[in-house]
Amino acid sequence: MFDTKELRENIERILKTDYGKTLAKAQTHEKYNALSKAIMGTIVDNWDETEKAYSTGKAAYYLSAEFLMGRALGNNLLNLGIYEEIKELLKKMDININDLEEIEEDAGLGNGGLGRLAACFMESCGTLNLPVRGYGIRYSHGLFKQSFKDGFQREEGDNWLKYGDPWSIRKEDEAVIVEFADEKVRAIPYDTPIIGYATRNINTLRLWKAESFKDFDFNLFNDQKYNEAVEDKNKAEDISRVLYPNDSTEEGKILRLKQQYFFVSASLKDIIRQYKKNHGIDFNKFPEFHAIQLNDTHPVVAIPELMRLLVDEENITWEIAWDITVKTFSYTNHTILAEALEQWWNGLYKKVLPRVYEIIEDIDRRFIMELLQKGYDSEKINSMAIIYKDMIRMAFLAIHGTHTTNGVAQLHTDILKFQELRDWYDIYPNRFQNKTNGITPRRWLALCNKELSQMITALLGTDKWINELTLLKELEKYLEDEQVLNKILEVKSEKKHQLAEYIKIHEGVEINPNSLFDIQIKRLHEYKRQLLNAFGILDLYFRLKENPEMDIVPRTFIFGAKAAPGYIRAKGIIKFINEIGTLIGNDPQVKDKIKVVFVQNYRVSYGERLFPAADISEQISTAGKEASGTGNMKFMLNGTPTLGTFDGANVEIVQEAGEENNFIFGARVEEIEEIKESYNPKEYYESNPRLKKVVDTLIDGTLSDGGTGMFEELYNSLLEGASWHKPDNYFIFRDFMDYVKTQEKVDRDYRDRIAWAKKCLMNIANAGKFSSDRTIQEYAREIWNIEPKKI
Ligand SMILES: *Cc1c(COP(=O)(O)O)cnc(C)c1O
Repeated sequence: MFDTKELRENIERILKTDYGKTLAKAQTHEKYNALSKAIMGTIVDNWDETEKAYSTGKAAYYLSAEFLMGRALGNNLLNLGIYEEIKELLKKMDININDLEEIEEDAGLGNGGLGRLAACFMESCGTLNLPVRGYGIRYSHGLFKQSFKDGFQREEGDNWLKYGDPWSIRKEDEAVIVEFADEKVRAIPYDTPIIGYATRNINTLRLWKAESFKDFDFNLFNDQKYNEAVEDKNKAEDISRVLYPNDSTEEGKILRLKQQYFFVSASLKDIIRQYKKNHGIDFNKFPEFHAIQLNDTHPVVAIPELMRLLVDEENITWEIAWDITVKTFSYTNHTILAEALEQWWNGLYKKVLPRVYEIIEDIDRRFIMELLQKGYDSEKINSMAIIYKDMIRMAFLAIHGTHTTNGVAQLHTDILKFQELRDWYDIYPNRFQNKTNGITPRRWLALCNKELSQMITALLGTDKWINELTLLKELEKYLEDEQVLNKILEVKSEKKHQLAEYIKIHEGVEINPNSLFDIQIKRLHEYKRQLLNAFGILDLYFRLKENPEMDIVPRTFIFGAKAAPGYIRAKGIIKFINEIGTLIGNDPQVKDKIKVVFVQNYRVSYGERLFPAADISEQISTAGKEASGTGNMKFMLNGTPTLGTFDGANVEIVQEAGEENNFIFGARVEEIEEIKESYNPKEYYESNPRLKKVVDTLIDGTLSDGGTGMFEELYNSLLEGASWHKPDNYFIFRDFMDYVKTQEKVDRDYRDRIAWAKKCLMNIANAGKFSSDRTIQEYAREIWNIEPKKI
């Protein structure tokens, strides 16, 4: 297929031209760069051909402030079908492919699920030969790097570009200008190839970097005013300097607004430039050629910006421009958490984007007229207005300015339609759709779990399942085959040994690979309830202390989570879990039975080691709070039963794999709705000594927060509440006993190894629905109206 001799020559040539070194002297990251660049060289022709093919018919554009791509090398080699060949070639060059893979920095340009979803979607679009381009921001610094010091989270900047980025190409000649009231900046596109699996098509992810027009002011420099000389340059570059580290919380910061407008305006100008080149200036056909998906509200300023471009710059009437806008855009809602719903103070908009703000006012004024004509009263109108009390409600602007609003799991979409956005569903019943999230089976099985992949391919006699994931269903025929079931357990054990080795190196902690690996990895948030897990561990610990002979399956509890730097309570929970880990680790009576490890700097590449090694997937959010979750799907695909609430996509996971193969507990959405007004957590606390004992560790001196007051604050949040939230806002006390009882069932079920392997098998066999290929095909057919275009 390609010439390995030529590739080797190219690698050695790049080492010479870029680093002035021979292979023998090159550093690992230099070899990584040279290999990556050499691979880039082999795909440019296909990439070019793909772009040409897509430029004629209808295409979709995925606008997202976040793309959590992770590492590229291994995935690209896998998708090109040359992983094994390259591994062999490198071996001949005395290079271990794993070393090159490990040296790559994660492209961590996202916070969590939302950004990772965008990355999985890009990969699926490439694999499905769909004309889709991603647009976002090329942050110079991605999500912060996390470490622990004395159990407290420390943050460090993520300078992911320090050794360069061989997977992107700067396209100087396609730069555009973005204007704010107080400054004008250049947006420079950097294109990254999205290499589909087993196809020649290469899609594009285009990320914008902000730069100044002037490099620096030479006159100021000559006058020795060095700081002022680079001021303009720095100010412009600030816009794409760093990703905001908030997951599911909104912060109305001016720089954040500039980031949003920056990438949205640049992307729309890019799309319009291309449209004019291909179709001239008749914009009526614009929606026939473009579908633009807004990933959450972050890019929703695209609605007034497209209006501005059409009305002000292309001289189109308001009515026609509005029709084009609504037909072009669609919007994905990712959350119903109140603190996550984006609102902007209109004073900020007026200051930074005065003309865009005028257009939003106009959109709102016309919308309110429509509501008046429907006979809506002023209370109802106030509750739906786009601008209300000086705040712009971005989700409302999104629903009103697009033809489709989608939720990300069936339960979530139902909550939107019948609860949170009921009034909107009333006026726009045809605009609401569900698109249950998915994950790419390439990264999340074929790449990260080669052992299980090989086993599946051998059993099915084909590797077609990799891009047709529902074929896994055929594995069900092995449900009574003990040899296959034992092999599943063997593979799991192998992945656990590998993880234990990795944790020993990276965390300096030894864990027992023969213990049950119980894993909760996701952003740290109160609604995700890592604290419930922690209380469950403490309860088990105290029971073991009381009854040292208690027979339990040895268990390792593994956590991974970053807390937003300003989210003090989340940081308190990290410290609490680390303290529990220390308490248990120092107790010779229990340390062979339970162990707690909080791994540092959880990210995509760490996930690739954790998901395949899990025996239990913790998905324990308060029912109704997790829109979908995708971590749950990664575990399932790797044969891990879910211990979870009826929330988000857990509902669908259980529908597919069977409730008997998972562990469901806790209050459901209906019950939460019913009890929330009269909920009194103190009653649970006073009447349940087991619960009281674990909660009291926050204040009775069992565990220390180093004098920060964090633990007492956590205690008060559970029992007293605060002006802005009720006590135990996330119903931990309500679900506590259900949770520990369900954990006891996990312990019992795990002992029957064959029965357990059946649960694993049923999860793998029924994970087909959760391929992002399925999700993307639904978007393509039901929202974007686009067709595959294979080159
Ligand atoms: C999949 C993924 C997430 C999302 O996890 P949830 O459990 O769905 O919140 C977050 N971060 C990383 C690195 C991921 O890979």
